[in-house]
Amino acid sequence: MMLSEPKINIKPDSMAITIRPDRIYAFDRTGRFVIGFKEGHNFRRSLDNRFMEKWGGFFDGMKERERRFLTEEEARGFYETLRQELVALSGALARGEVELIGKGDRLASESRAWLDRALAADWDALSADRDRFYRVYAPVGILPPDQYLSLVVQATLGCSYNKCTFCDFYRGQRFAIKKPAEFRQHLAAIREFFGEAVYLRKNIFLADANALVIPQNQLIPLMRELHEAFAFMPYGLQAEERIRWRDSHPDGMEGVYAFLDAFSGRKKTVEDFAALRDLHLKRAYIGLETGDDALLAFLNKPGTAGDACEAVAALKAAGVPVGVIVMTGVGGDRFSEGHIRETAQTLRQMALGDGDILYFSEFVEHSGGEYAERAAEYGVRPLSRPEIAAQQQEMVSRLNLPRYGAKVAKYDIREFVY
Ligand code: SF4
Repeated sequence: MMLSEPKINIKPDSMAITIRPDRIYAFDRTGRFVIGFKEGHNFRRSLDNRFMEKWGGFFDGMKERERRFLTEEEARGFYETLRQELVALSGALARGEVELIGKGDRLASESRAWLDRALAADWDALSADRDRFYRVYAPVGILPPDQYLSLVVQATLGCSYNKCTFCDFYRGQRFAIKKPAEFRQHLAAIREFFGEAVYLRKNIFLADANALVIPQNQLIPLMRELHEAFAFMPYGLQAEERIRWRDSHPDGMEGVYAFLDAFSGRKKTVEDFAALRDLHLKRAYIGLETGDDALLAFLNKPGTAGDACEAVAALKAAGVPVGVIVMTGVGGDRFSEGHIRETAQTLRQMALGDGDILYFSEFVEHSGGEYAERAAEYGVRPLSRPEIAAQQQEMVSRLNLPRYGAKVAKYDIREFVY
């Protein structure tokens, strides 16, 4: 049965189809499914063809989002149903029963071409992407939430330290910095892998864990390789100029984003960061975790809160905004009081402002890790979800919002998909 009022919305970088108000799906220019909304649940496909489902729910009496990765069988079932809807939509399009949204006078033929590409991307084509993806990328451990749609380029592999007890994103990976020629090949392979799907990606995330640890004399040539591979929107364009630039550079990039750990941040000067800003570094993300040095030591994270403040000050003096990540709940009851007090104090000292983001990321314990061993040794009781929420609220209450300036947001590492 064809459902009423289906819509096809064509944009330069994507197609959104509305089968009915509670079934909306979006596709990239190669016809790959990207994201969907179906009967109150959100679905997102990763580039290695895993499907994450998210929905609202209650946990410990608190309204929360739940999430899970579908099994391969479930993902395939979801996608086959979606394809049946595409086939029905294709028939409706042929009968002129679809509302078309978009620019230009060739909307009907463009909608047909977009829909045909989506129909051609069957399950086998999506499955084949997984192998192609892993020929181009090492596993992508994590990104900040505002960077999930960035184009990841791996200038480094893994983490230069890799010993924080709470973190297993890069365990087992040997740290390496790519040479310019190797990086150039990586960028070319990424270009080939994405094809025109790259139009959806407006920024670059310079991965992996701590790419800004790369010594400045090696990092600048790698940043220049990025500029060889991609056009970057010039700084200072007005709104209309930005639109014109985007129209003429559909695969252009607006900025480069990267993680920086405070212990390595100390090694870069204001001038170093300014040179990176001139090469379009638009934000550096610092995993502060806590302002409490005793808790940092417990977590085996090198450096101090003072190091993080210095790194933030250097970045801001160079005109590079920051994203600062605080981990709530970590250290349990044993460290909670110091965590709240010292973190609020550190954040006040950082004086984050316009363009900066303060993330609160709830601690997620990975199984069999060193954190659990240490926590048992120290007699740490894990905090409950309400206690973690209260901890975050107490930190925020000490920041004098809204005068604090920075955007405050949630960072749930369990929702990461690339
Ligand atoms: S928290 Fe950062 S520095 Fe520590 S192991 Fe993980 S990626 Fe490396």
